Amino acid sequence: MNTTVLYSQAGIATQIVISVEEDYFIVDAGDGTLRDLLHEKIDLRKIKGIFLTHGHYDHIAGLYALLGYFRIIERKYPINIYFPKGCKEAQQIIFAFKESYNDFSFKIQTHEVKGGDEVKIEDLKVKIYQMRHYAAVGVNRILHSDLAVGYRFIYGGESVAISGDTGICSGLRNLVEGADLALIDSTLNKDEETDELLEKLHLSKEKAEEIGKLAKKYILIHRQCK
Ligand SMILES: [Zn+2]
Repeated sequence: MNTTVLYSQAGIATQIVISVEEDYFIVDAGDGTLRDLLHEKIDLRKIKGIFLTHGHYDHIAGLYALLGYFRIIERKYPINIYFPKGCKEAQQIIFAFKESYNDFSFKIQTHEVKGGDEVKIEDLKVKIYQMRHYAAVGVNRILHSDLAVGYRFIYGGESVAISGDTGICSGLRNLVEGADLALIDSTLNKDEETDELLEKLHLSKEKAEEIGKLAKKYILIHRQCK
């Protein structure tokens, strides 16, 4: 199992690709995902599944382009799209694509998931964990709880945990604990870190490192542009 962070910047885009034998799985599809996949010379026909952690634009804005590209290359195999149960943004993007075209040659199979669920794709197992992520306009204006999940990919005795955006919660600890590799949200700068933001919005670099140590190895993602 190989994990590549194609791109990850808070408020811009996050896209990660996991390869398992001949298959590819995308985790989050922010703006530029198509460009980044083509740049890496990844055969888009071999993408089996797209896993979205939540519906915020920096994780989902590239989904429509992927579907459009699949249509242009006349993809034949179904594409499986996983997203948190009730995630409106994912539902609406897929709906808009389906409503716009009746000439695409692949099936879109959607799977709404929640913490505790488990997905089996041949020998790959994906466990879903509930995260805690609020919508906020301006870093201090917390609005309401949004649906967010983390994914743990398990294949051939190896595991990779991907948090998506999250505050510190029990789901995050369980997701990361014992993983071979963990990719963890580390958005907040030291000067913006408050207990409420750490609990409801994002981790800071320091907190992400603390949680990361629960895994064998970790990478901090979703940093802010300097
Ligand atoms: Zn984000």
